Amino acid sequence: MTRRALIIAGVGLAMVIFVLGLIGYFMPVYRSYAPLSNLRVYVHFAGGLVRVYCLRCDQPFVLEESLGYVNMSVRLADSNRSFYRYYHAPAGSLPPYAWLSNKWQARNDPTAPTLHFFGFRTWIWLPVLLLLIHPILAAARDRIARHRRRAGCCAACGYDLTGNESGVCPECGEDVHANALRYPLADRTH
Ligand SMILES: [Zn+2]
Repeated sequence: MTRRALIIAGVGLAMVIFVLGLIGYFMPVYRSYAPLSNLRVYVHFAGGLVRVYCLRCDQPFVLEESLGYVNMSVRLADSNRSFYRYYHAPAGSLPPYAWLSNKWQARNDPTAPTLHFFGFRTWIWLPVLLLLIHPILAAARDRIARHRRRAGCCAACGYDLTGNESGVCPECGEDVHANALRYPLADRTH
């Protein structure tokens, strides 16, 4: 049950990333969260890239996004002046995979706050593929096991169990009844 829930969650998440990534080719998708006044986390899908970035400051701050979420500017909550600016470069003009972890502080202003910037960006299909590897392998394994059982063989190793009375596969030691419960065969009417 847990395994099944994990597989469904993995496939679901892969589909969400895939769809948002596709939309991102036509218009940027941006979701921002501020769990604390000095912490901001956001996801940004654009041009086939997904960015998950996190900004943390020692003081409460505001993150301002330009139209289209290209130019990003950080200012302190009680100030009008931005103290850090950066932009989301278009896909193709930068390495598609990056793990970022920077500490930024204005050189000419020792009183300026320190901004911690960390996160990652990747092509959308990388997380999609990673999330799908396990479900695809599990589905293939289940298919093979059911096929073996239908043929009267051990679900684990494929050994022919015709005439087996012990309930244990003599080849690999698998519990035949446990496997029968794990890979039930649909009742077929002809
Ligand atoms: Zn076996």
